[in-house]
Amino acid sequence: MKREPHLETVCPKCGKVYTGYPALSRVDNSTLICSLCGAAEALEMLGISNDEKEHILEIIHTHSH
Ligand SMILES: [Zn+2]
Repeated sequence: MKREPHLETVCPKCGKVYTGYPALSRVDNSTLICSLCGAAEALEMLGISNDEKEHILEIIHTHSH
């Protein structure tokens, strides 16, 4: 069995398993979500359009791998 150095957590927002630091959901300020969802929520708060948001998240996703 392969052992991961990082703790694996399931993001309740997108349902994906992520490792590393979680982000705090801005919706209720208590739910821990993955950094990508955290970034998406931050962009929503700024009033970024969906098209622009997806483009930014794509860049974040590309650079985090
Ligand atoms: Zn997520």
